[in-house]
Amino acid sequence: MSLLGAAEIRVLAAELDLKPAKSLGQNFVIDGNICRKIVRLAQVSSDDVALEIGPGLGSLTLALLDEAAAVVAVEIDQRLARQLPITVAAHSLRKENLTVINEDALHISYLPQAPTVMVANLPYNVSVPVLLHFLERFPTLRSGVVMVQAEVADRLIARPGTKDYGIPSVKAAWWAQMSHVGAVSRSVFWPAPNVDSKLVGFVRRQTPGDDAMRRVVFAAIDAAFAQRRKMLRSALGSWLGSSAIAESVLVKAGIDPKLRGEALEIEDYCAIANALRDLAIEF
Ligand code: SAM
Repeated sequence: MSLLGAAEIRVLAAELDLKPAKSLGQNFVIDGNICRKIVRLAQVSSDDVALEIGPGLGSLTLALLDEAAAVVAVEIDQRLARQLPITVAAHSLRKENLTVINEDALHISYLPQAPTVMVANLPYNVSVPVLLHFLERFPTLRSGVVMVQAEVADRLIARPGTKDYGIPSVKAAWWAQMSHVGAVSRSVFWPAPNVDSKLVGFVRRQTPGDDAMRRVVFAAIDAAFAQRRKMLRSALGSWLGSSAIAESVLVKAGIDPKLRGEALEIEDYCAIANALRDLAIEF
């Protein structure tokens, strides 16, 4: 199957009268080799149902259709969603293997096929919520490779105690093992973005608790990083009602109350959730 190149992307955009919207993170990949590389890095096989968020003009979709049993693509822009099957039919014999859903990815709670692998050049303004949303809603997703803004990639894979470590790092760690799998030059996009991009890989892990526990853990993470320069007894105190209560919870969890949220691993936040349960503290 032939992939899309720079000239074809521009022709398609002109035919659709498409002015790439910054608000939708519309930077389209114009280099088929990059798309093949991403699909290879994601180890997509003929057993996979690949999920692509934001297929745009179809650069990555075509490469995915070459390898996966099926591709489910969620695109918010109606013009792009309508055009995609037409583009695919012109380039591939596998158009029956593509399902396009014209919706905001953040509102998707059902897909016609259970996705096994996520491969996407994510819209940069919603990349973290989209990733967390699909990891939560679709437990069949076992792994993936996503392209995101370089700073976001650094946050997703950051370790405790580093400047990049924050809410995305800890929440992503609840669901998966994240890793850096490559950098992408600005020159492979049209229009060229004014930020750098990186590829992040993920492999789902066994979650450290059930969904009720996750909600408590995520609330603790939000509270700890809402005041990230403050000690945990104070940062969690605002959430739990007082610093004294927060201190008793942290001691019960075996965590020094003078630490900051950025020092804790996901397992430490789980210990806080367990301590809240053991101490029967409501919040
Ligand atoms: N995959 C294409 C490529 O690599 O050339 C396009 C990637 S472009 C960075 C992001 C795409 O996501 C755009 O097509 C945009 O319209 C779409 N998009 C933006 N926000 C979205 C959302 N909330 N849900 C689904 N698609 C979205």
